[in-house]
Amino acid sequence: LSLLLGTIGLQAQETSLKSSVKNVEAKVDSVLNIMTLEEKVGQMIQYNGSWDLTGPASETGNKQKEDRLKKGLVGSMLNVLSVEATEKAQKLNMENSRIKIPIIFGYDVIHGYKTIFPVPLAETASWDMEAAEESARIAALESVAEGVNWTFSPMIDVSRDARWGRIMEGSGEDPYLTSQVAVAKVNGYQGDDLANPTTIAATAKHFAGYGFAEGGKDYNTVNIGKNELHNVILPPFKAAADAGAATFMNAFNTIDGIPATGSESLQRELLKTEWDWDGFIVSDWGSISEMIPHGFARDKVHAAEIAVKAGSDMDMEGGAYQAGLEQLVAEGKVDEELINDAVRRILRVKFMMGLFEDPYRYINAEVKKEVPYEQHLETARDIARKSIVLLKNEKDLLPMSASAGKIAVIGPLANDKDTPIGNWRAQGESNSAVSVVEGLKNQLPDSDIVYSEGVKLGMGERSFLMPLKINKTDTTGMGEAVKNARDAEVVVMVLGEDAFQSGEGRSQANIGFAGLQLELLKKVYAVNKNIVLVLINGRPMELSWSAENIPAIVEAWQLGSESGNAIADVLLGKYNPSGKLPVSFPRAVGQEPLYYNYKNTGRPYSEQHVTYSHYTDIENGPLFPFGYGLSYTAFEYAKPTLSSATLTSGETATLSVAVTNSGDTKGKEVVQLYVRDMVASTSRPVKELKGFEMIELEAGETKTIDFEISEEMLQFYTAQEKWEAEEGEFRLMVGTNSEELQTVTLNFQK
Ligand code: BGC
Repeated sequence: LSLLLGTIGLQAQETSLKSSVKNVEAKVDSVLNIMTLEEKVGQMIQYNGSWDLTGPASETGNKQKEDRLKKGLVGSMLNVLSVEATEKAQKLNMENSRIKIPIIFGYDVIHGYKTIFPVPLAETASWDMEAAEESARIAALESVAEGVNWTFSPMIDVSRDARWGRIMEGSGEDPYLTSQVAVAKVNGYQGDDLANPTTIAATAKHFAGYGFAEGGKDYNTVNIGKNELHNVILPPFKAAADAGAATFMNAFNTIDGIPATGSESLQRELLKTEWDWDGFIVSDWGSISEMIPHGFARDKVHAAEIAVKAGSDMDMEGGAYQAGLEQLVAEGKVDEELINDAVRRILRVKFMMGLFEDPYRYINAEVKKEVPYEQHLETARDIARKSIVLLKNEKDLLPMSASAGKIAVIGPLANDKDTPIGNWRAQGESNSAVSVVEGLKNQLPDSDIVYSEGVKLGMGERSFLMPLKINKTDTTGMGEAVKNARDAEVVVMVLGEDAFQSGEGRSQANIGFAGLQLELLKKVYAVNKNIVLVLINGRPMELSWSAENIPAIVEAWQLGSESGNAIADVLLGKYNPSGKLPVSFPRAVGQEPLYYNYKNTGRPYSEQHVTYSHYTDIENGPLFPFGYGLSYTAFEYAKPTLSSATLTSGETATLSVAVTNSGDTKGKEVVQLYVRDMVASTSRPVKELKGFEMIELEAGETKTIDFEISEEMLQFYTAQEKWEAEEGEFRLMVGTNSEELQTVTLNFQK
């Protein structure tokens, strides 16, 4: 980082800003004291910047919006179309308004800005927290150069349901892993100090429960109790708050009957009071007004009253605060102190970011020139290959040899340059990813590589929130694909999901191969069984037939700009795969929600009290479990040992395990630690991830990993509604994935 800062000559400016944020609280008050109620409410309003601010404000709606900008009555804007428009909006505000409070500009910088990194679910599969931080750092640098101050990321909604379209945008099913990513992302975006103008403010979203939408249907009702809320959903948010996330976003869903946006217990009581967090909460898009269709508010004014009392500080595009807040204060229904609290929080972030000193912050052509995009692509490639998970590798098909003979690359996604960019692509250009065909040709310029699409996947227009039309009838390309497969030494089949099959509003009842893909796969398989199946997708897919029949399967998700190069690196053995699944893959969609950290029931009976609840028509449990992923080498775990069979409150114990690379290639392994509380005041999951460590071992090398076992690892939200560890027996499990584990027993006493 210091190297980068050095390049762009910022150190002096940085130091002066650092000292200027010391008296933030006094400055906030000095501004707040001179603000009118109208100006205060203005700070709590966020406009979507979807109109061309650089042109004439001819449309009535836009004229009104620009008039409000000039009066300083817009605290924030989101997703403004261009850097010029951003500059213009800030100018309208700074050059005309009475107090000149800078606007804070937000943007959905979710997995990169121009350089696109793997979608968050994929990146989490790297289990590499340095990578997660680095991609956020780069996204921050690229976006500040274009006027972005604030990203609506990370999404840290734990989700256990592959049907949910937004599962691609989070870190999967585990609260601990998601918490680690939350911290890495906040650190990456915000750096050590928000006053450094190469940083952007982070948003922990969606607070809370959004990933638990019933049936995996986006925006749907969430029905969970306190136990699940506190033990599963909230830990990543607590971690983000502790890491200093400047903002939180609330959520569209109701949770136990209360819209999250109107939840005083979540926002004002828990986050702001109990956790003592001093940032501000932005609503989700229109979620304040959406309390009307939820049947929770009569109209916008009522919605504004509920939301502000609950602790929502800023209204994203809903118009509820604009419609109602002033009137509510005038009528005595809302205490102005609540408004002051919200404005104080918003001003605090603006001061901390140095926006008052320089409202244009990093909008600067010079800076833009200095952004090392080429270098960012290299990092994107490295992170992309770390995110790939090897699911199956039989018949020694992988790594492919460079002299493999004729390679048939087949499938609707094989030469797709758009899908790997994924959803939420910020300023990432459409059709800009390296495709698998390109990636292979780049590295094997002299090989005989033949490409055939086989079948089309999506048809017609692809647009935000519109269901994608899938090809179910056009089989014209199949013949050629089968012919190419027949003559080939090896077939690389690239199947999965179109970019527009996952993401917001894109939940699906089916998670197998859409359209004619499976038919194509079976036809190819009939003529050539040497198939390497490469999956490009945004969610766990139903893969039962493939898992049974296809010898090699590579989960390559949506890997961003460098997708094809990264995939070629893995297929050709230039990178030994090290990714592990952050989410369970089911045998059939009917098993969803499916997750490894379930609570055991009495039936079916098991000696060890560990059984997934079952269906009669399918084998129990996942096809590929959480934490699973193969390597081109093999790792052997020795028997784990514990330094002491008893842990007393306040002390620590050490669990040690030796891991050997017993294969003949250097490789990385993620050593995973799980904990089970055998008997507690509430039923506890059969195992929960509590630690992991990535190690790299040369062929034949052995390393011993020491996990420090602390009381904190044993804590949970108890029946007494407290985070604590209860006395008694615990099982500690260590191994290569959530199912292949060795156990030691620990007794905890106070
Ligand atoms: C999404 C948010 C996003 C916001 C702004 C909403 O529909 O739920 O995650 O940040 O739009 O684009």
